[in-house]
Amino acid sequence: MSRDEWLIEEQTPGYRTQWRVRRVLHEEQTPFQHLQLVEMEDFGRALVLDSAVQTTVGDEYIYHEMIAHVPLFTHPNPERVLIIGGGDGGTAREVCRHSSVQKVDMVEIDRAVVEACRRYLPETACGLDHPKVNLVIGDGLAWVAERRGEYDVILVDSSDPVGPAVGLFNRAFYENVYRALKPDGLFVAQVLSPFFHKKLIHDVYQVVASIFPITMPYLTVVPTYPSGLHCFMLGSKRHSPLRQGVRVPSWPTRWYTPAVHRAAFQLPPVVAELLQPTAAPEHAEGPCHAAPTV
Ligand code: SAM
Repeated sequence: MSRDEWLIEEQTPGYRTQWRVRRVLHEEQTPFQHLQLVEMEDFGRALVLDSAVQTTVGDEYIYHEMIAHVPLFTHPNPERVLIIGGGDGGTAREVCRHSSVQKVDMVEIDRAVVEACRRYLPETACGLDHPKVNLVIGDGLAWVAERRGEYDVILVDSSDPVGPAVGLFNRAFYENVYRALKPDGLFVAQVLSPFFHKKLIHDVYQVVASIFPITMPYLTVVPTYPSGLHCFMLGSKRHSPLRQGVRVPSWPTRWYTPAVHRAAFQLPPVVAELLQPTAAPEHAEGPCHAAPTV
C-alpha cells in the first residue's frame, strides 16, 4: 500500500470499511499474522493485523477503558489480573490505573506486535512497561490451562477468531478461564459486532452462560470497528456488574463513567434476542438479515 492509498477492511461481500492512509510505517509477516502499522488520515496511527484494524490512536481509549474498567470496578478488590492478547498495551495501561491491582500477567503470542507498538504506538504501549506488568510472550490458551484459582479478573483482549485467536472463543478455553479465576473472579472477552457476528455472540453466550452463574454481554461504540457497535462478554462467579456498590474512578477518564457502565448492559431487543437459546440467527453474519420468524 503506497502513500495516499486506502486501507480496506471487508466484513461481508456487501460491506467494507476503508480509511485513507497517509503512510505505512511498518509492515511484516510475523510467524502468526500479517502486521501493519499505518498512519490514517482521520484516526492517526493504527495497528492492523491480517487486514483487520485492531487499535487506532483516534479511538483506542473507548475500547481500552470499557474492557478494563467495567470488570475492575465490578470486582470489590481486584489484585491479580491476567490479560490475554492486548499486545498494543492499551488494556494494561488502563488496568494499572487501579491502585488495588498488585500484578498483571499479560500473555501476548506475537513479539512483533509488542515491538512494533513500542516503536509506533507509545500512547498505548506505555502500558507494557508499567512496573506491575509481567509481559509474557506466549500462547494465552496454554497459559490459562495451567492456572488454578489465581486471578481476580481475566481480560481476553484478543484479535478476532482467526489465526492464533481461534481457540480463544470455545468451551475448553472458557472452562479453563473459570478454573484460573479465584472463587469470586470474573472475566471479560471482546466478542466483536452484534451486527456482523450474531452467531459468534449467540454461541459464546450459550457456552459462557453454561459455565458462569452470571453472564452478561455489554456494548460500546468503537468507530473504527465493524459497524461501530462492539460487544464484550462478561462471565462472573459471584459479583454482578449491576450490583449495588460498584466502585467509581477517582481519576479522569475519556469514555467510562458509572452511568456509561450501567447503560452498557441495557441491550436493545435486537441484541438481547441473540441470547435466546434457540435464536441461533438464521443468517449467521451480516447486519440486514432479519431474525428468523418464529
Ligand atoms: N483491541 C483489539 C480487538 O478487539 O480486536 C485487540 C488488540 S490486541 C492487538 C490483539 C492481540 O491478540 C494481538 O496482538 C494477537 O497477537 C493476540 N493474540 C491472538 N491470539 C492469541 C493467543 N492465542 N495468545 C496470546 N495472544 C494472542
